Amino acid sequence: MASRILLVEDDSTIGEVLTASLRSHAHEVTWEQTGEAGITRATASAVDLVLLDLGLPDLDGVEVCRQLRRARPGCVIVILTARAAEMDVVVGLEAGADDYLVKPVRLGELHARVRAHLRRNEGAAAALSAYPIGDLVVDVPCRRVTVAGRELPLRAKEFDLLARMAAQPDVALSRETLMCDVWDEHWFGSTKTLDVHVAALRRKIGEIAASSHARVPAIVTLRGHGFRLELLPDSNSAPPGR
Ligand code: CA
Repeated sequence: MASRILLVEDDSTIGEVLTASLRSHAHEVTWEQTGEAGITRATASAVDLVLLDLGLPDLDGVEVCRQLRRARPGCVIVILTARAAEMDVVVGLEAGADDYLVKPVRLGELHARVRAHLRRNEGAAAALSAYPIGDLVVDVPCRRVTVAGRELPLRAKEFDLLARMAAQPDVALSRETLMCDVWDEHWFGSTKTLDVHVAALRRKIGEIAASSHARVPAIVTLRGHGFRLELLPDSNSAPPGR
């Protein structure tokens, strides 16, 4: 089945080039030129991946990102930014984006990223495992995470990262391994994305665990190496004997 890609880009030249190029790779592409139209489109019809320009004429791109994420929790959002400043990228990721490409976008890189994101989403859906760790269950086929039976809403990449770590609990996973497995097999450069997603997972898991008195694993930071998902003896746990 063709992947449904929504492109939100006000520049006609860039929009035409990207649309034609994505279509030539057998993707189903819808192109909108304003933030408002992009949000309306994503709300009305299913989409697998959004390519979102941050510099739009009507709405702030970061706000558009936030609204797209609300409308489509499971889809992949890749922001396109002419602003290579790290702050813009971090703000975009915090607003719900999974990845970013800096303009001018190289088509080879665009296709590689799009392919990797879509394949990973499909691959994760096709896997056949659920990982229980304490009261936290990562159900990979259903792409659902529950804590003591309550569903924990996660963004696409947060889920992928948690599922990757849950597949090997108690094992030290390097930053490079996580970047390669969850984002891009040829990743090099900044791993800021990883820290943003780990922070979001810690916050979300912590909040639901606190409100339901559940026992959940902690994402332990291993300085100079990476992370380990581990059920600590006293991590957010219910009182002993319960
Ligand atoms: Ca623009």
